[in-house]
Amino acid sequence: MLDINYFIAFFRKFNEYIQDNKDYLTELDSAIGDADHGINMSKGCKTALQKIENSNFSSISDLLKTISMALMSSVGGASGPLYGTIFMKMSVSLNKPNVDIKSLSSALQNALNGIKFLGKAEFGDKTMVDVWEPVVNEFTILVEKNANILDIKNKIISLAEEAMKNTIPLIAKKGRASYLGPRSANHQDPGATSSYYFFKALFENLE
Ligand code: ADP
Ligand code: MG
Repeated sequence: MLDINYFIAFFRKFNEYIQDNKDYLTELDSAIGDADHGINMSKGCKTALQKIENSNFSSISDLLKTISMALMSSVGGASGPLYGTIFMKMSVSLNKPNVDIKSLSSALQNALNGIKFLGKAEFGDKTMVDVWEPVVNEFTILVEKNANILDIKNKIISLAEEAMKNTIPLIAKKGRASYLGPRSANHQDPGATSSYYFFKALFENLE
């Protein structure tokens, strides 16, 4: 079973990766966007973390909803509503007494569907979907196969990293980077990079 402390530890880790890599994310966004992804994510995570540290939550769902609202209200740019949607879909999905790894896989499927519905991006468009889709699909398969938790954890984290790097050669079809056309190639997508931190933070505590 996954408890509320698991999700709090996840968000603290995610925040840590974002703060530590704020300049890197901004540098990636300066190549193919408007140089604010690190700033956006850093501000949003900081606001959400302050809420977490100063409140008591009745449930996992309640915690995730609070994070979602903090991100939606404080993050500018495309990534605010996208990450806000991720946490909102997870909150709705995990609104139940017992949360296990199977519930987590359906919550992540719902979050992926939410991102795709909102941003209309498909796999290969050089966005965060390029990390989310392969990772969530593989996670679902591994959970259905009853794979060993350690295997799942290692596979998913390395898959997320690989998927992030696979955005480098792509030409962006969605978001600001798409304005550059072919000149968007040979750069790693900033949102795919923050999504790698999301999955690393989420899966490394799994046991
Ligand atoms: P903005 O592009 O508004 O400046 P950010 O810089 O914070 O917002 O975030 C940029 C990231 O958001 C991109 O690298 C990409 O991964 C993601 N993104 C942008 N548009 C979309 C979309 N339509 N669908 C999915 N992800 C998107
Ligand atoms: Mg930007």
